[in-house]
Amino acid sequence: MFNSTPCGRFAPSPTGPLHAGSLLAALGSWLQARQRGGQWRVRVEDVDLTREVAGAAQDQLRTLAAFGLQHDGEIAYQSRRSGLYQAVLDQLLGRGLAFECHCSRSELAAVGGIHRHCVATQPRPDPAIRLRVPADCEIAFIDGVHGVIHQRVDLEVGDFVLRRSDGLWAYQLAVVVDDAAQGITDVVRGSDLLESTPRQILLQRALGLPTPNYAHLPLLLDTDGHKLSKSSAALPVDTRNPLVTLTRLWACLGQVALPPSATTSVAEFLHTATACFDLNAVPRQSITVSAAMHNTI
Ligand code: GLU
Repeated sequence: MFNSTPCGRFAPSPTGPLHAGSLLAALGSWLQARQRGGQWRVRVEDVDLTREVAGAAQDQLRTLAAFGLQHDGEIAYQSRRSGLYQAVLDQLLGRGLAFECHCSRSELAAVGGIHRHCVATQPRPDPAIRLRVPADCEIAFIDGVHGVIHQRVDLEVGDFVLRRSDGLWAYQLAVVVDDAAQGITDVVRGSDLLESTPRQILLQRALGLPTPNYAHLPLLLDTDGHKLSKSSAALPVDTRNPLVTLTRLWACLGQVALPPSATTSVAEFLHTATACFDLNAVPRQSITVSAAMHNTI
């Protein structure tokens, strides 16, 4: 690890209003950063314009504010950072660590869906750019919730996309560049991203960037087993009674109930919760939430 001011972040994609699952990630990351006396940044991950919903980013920011989750510094918007991503991509291409890939989805599907070498039968005008993953590439890290995680990136993921064939920046590239540029030391997010982390560490190593501490929080699922934020049944989180929702999210994080004095105001709750938060108590398994509680969880 490296010596710098602790800094956490919340990086929502503006694809709709915040749901309880995303708010859980925001709260966990905020508490972890504040407990360490650190800063907490917000980054709008709006690289994928095809999935963006107009007004969603502003709505998400209002929700964070309603729950008292104040951020530090300017909000970063990935859509304004293309120059940075391009410079990193050029560097990787120049060093032979990334390459143009002309394979189509169906050509890759025919070889099991994992790219180890190009199988394209014809060149295309809009190749994707992939990171070349070396053979025998095992990445291991210690997750703050899940413990030791190993992934054979070459076998389980293969050469992965940095810039898509439609010209959009891939999440993996943008997140690595931005976490480093923003000085993020602690990434606390949903466990759907646990399997992305080895790719991000590999990219950090290729670029000589520090690796933050990682902790992946449980997902909230509806009774059909769908991730709450993706579920069509999930309602946006209700901002009218933030203390009720905060108390339930706190329980989802496996934390010991706070004294009644902590639930007199949002500020008091967050103050007490920051002092008491224990990452070791966070459960690993997903949590099923009944439909009646989706919006207050
Ligand atoms: N933008 C991602 C999402 O909204 C989160 C990315 C991250 O935390 O690394 O699911």
